[in-house]
Amino acid sequence: MTAQLLVVGSANADLVVPAERRPSGGETVLGGDTETWPGGKGANTAVAAARLGADVALLGAVGDDAHGRLLLDSLHGSGVHTGLVRVVPRPTGLAFITVTPDGENSILVSPGANHALRPDDVASVVSEAKVAVVSMEIPLDTVERAINAAAASGTRTVLNLSPVAAVPAPTLAGVDVLLVNEHEAAWLLGSGAADGMVGTRELAGLLDLGPRAAVVTSGARGAVVVEQEGLTEVPTPAVEVVDTTGAGDAFAGALATALTRDAGLADAAASAVRVAALSVTRRGAQPSYPTAVELE
Ligand code: ATP
Repeated sequence: MTAQLLVVGSANADLVVPAERRPSGGETVLGGDTETWPGGKGANTAVAAARLGADVALLGAVGDDAHGRLLLDSLHGSGVHTGLVRVVPRPTGLAFITVTPDGENSILVSPGANHALRPDDVASVVSEAKVAVVSMEIPLDTVERAINAAAASGTRTVLNLSPVAAVPAPTLAGVDVLLVNEHEAAWLLGSGAADGMVGTRELAGLLDLGPRAAVVTSGARGAVVVEQEGLTEVPTPAVEVVDTTGAGDAFAGALATALTRDAGLADAAASAVRVAALSVTRRGAQPSYPTAVELE
């Protein structure tokens, strides 16, 4: 099955519990009612792209359970091709999210079915796509194979290296666009700064790690595009923030959608900040992603 855009990544059900404070070791805290949302970086990215009209497939894995069906329904409902989502004999990935009144999240992820995604599942299909977005929360050897196979076949690769991890240099050399947030960029650059931040100019150092270009998102400040020719700062529209959950994945889906339409990287990032900024004005991850019509 071919789609112009292939997303390789996780699908999780997000179980969100509001609580006055998070429990410490050995302690029990009573929270509010649990909300269950479709999530996971791969599924979020694919849904964001589909809402914008992209021809997009998710390559992922869910369990044969209610959470897996919730995810498949959300993907179908948004127009994502799901023929490459395997149903495997493990529980669907879950993210246990505690939200305290200060808006801070703490998240425990149980990858479950996502860890059933093996390198052999990805190699033959990534080569058929025009653009492949690969994100983490799946086994690292699967990430590596997806990037290597895509690079070898001329498929344009976007690696959303979140959560950040050490990826072997030969794999990073096959990445066209490395997409990270500012904290992940600082980690990759080995920043000794106390706040874990790096200056804009230092971001050029990301290209020394191997990718042809990089895009670094920085919340309300927008994004920086790093190319051999130089840096481009892309401001994000000022909006009233309701919930930033999944903003990075909205950005990834929109960026990749623009790249499948042959946009230059700075233009693709400009379109992605608009989509991500709109997503933070609404609650949830996938339910907050705008359609192409809403963007206009
Ligand atoms: P998350 O982990 O919440 O998904 P992230 O850390 O991966 O996010 P951010 O850099 O926080 O990514 O946000 C991604 C994009 O979302 C930004 O580049 C920006 O376009 C948009 N965004 C995030 N926060 C804000 C905000 N407060 N105001 C406007 N836009 C925002």
